[in-house]
Amino acid sequence: MTTATPEAGESALRQTMVVGNWKMHGALQANADLLRSLRAAPPAGCAVSVCVPFPYLAQARELLAGSQVAWGAQDCSMHEQGAYTGEVSARMLGDFGCRHVLVGHSERRRLHGESDAMVAAKAERALECGLTPIVCLGETLEQREGGQTEAAIGLQLDAVLHLLGAHAARMVLAYEPVWAIGSGRSASAEQAQQVHALLRARVARHGIDAQSLSILYGGSVNPANAGDLFAQPDVDGGLIGGASLQAADFQSIIESAPRH
Ligand code: PEP
Repeated sequence: MTTATPEAGESALRQTMVVGNWKMHGALQANADLLRSLRAAPPAGCAVSVCVPFPYLAQARELLAGSQVAWGAQDCSMHEQGAYTGEVSARMLGDFGCRHVLVGHSERRRLHGESDAMVAAKAERALECGLTPIVCLGETLEQREGGQTEAAIGLQLDAVLHLLGAHAARMVLAYEPVWAIGSGRSASAEQAQQVHALLRARVARHGIDAQSLSILYGGSVNPANAGDLFAQPDVDGGLIGGASLQAADFQSIIESAPRH
């Protein structure tokens, strides 16, 4: 794999991050209000990013450039370029100043049939273009209730670890239980911590410096539960869907993140 940065001793800087996922929401005027309010309340000691729909990347760049808030996208193609109508490549995202790209969000796995192998290939394309892939994984309610949580997320994670090898140290993971996304029912802080610790241990077994990896929790995070979730030792912040669309809620979640 060819990457934008050297392989030797690769590691990401583990940091507390709060990342907004706007999903397919937004309109130019509402976005401008939201982005300006984020810019006006700069985060202290925690990395903040918003993953916006593709058409709004130019607007995010225009309104956030030079601020402490980064921006990114919600998906990228598993291909470099070519006859893939409707697809957007990681290199194109780089042209718009994206720092991050979500890959493997459960809505893409479920609604668009993305396999573990496709998600891994997307993460690889992102790294090649100097973007940080935020690799989303999580179990369904059926899998959790059937005692299959570790097996389910293990398969999703292993596909990425095998393809990326040592470069996996530069990804960010987001544990997002499918049953918690958009449901108003977050995982408890204990459930999140338990899975994050499992993920970190599994990453370490692949020879990656897991202590340097940021692992975010996502799924119905709101201003009331963010503090407890983010206080867990293996939870390095959150991936926030619905609550990232309200400036006050997103700001309050950012303020719940521990300062390093
Ligand atoms: C998400 O879409 O990644 C997400 C976590 O959504 P929500 O916060 O709305 O559950």
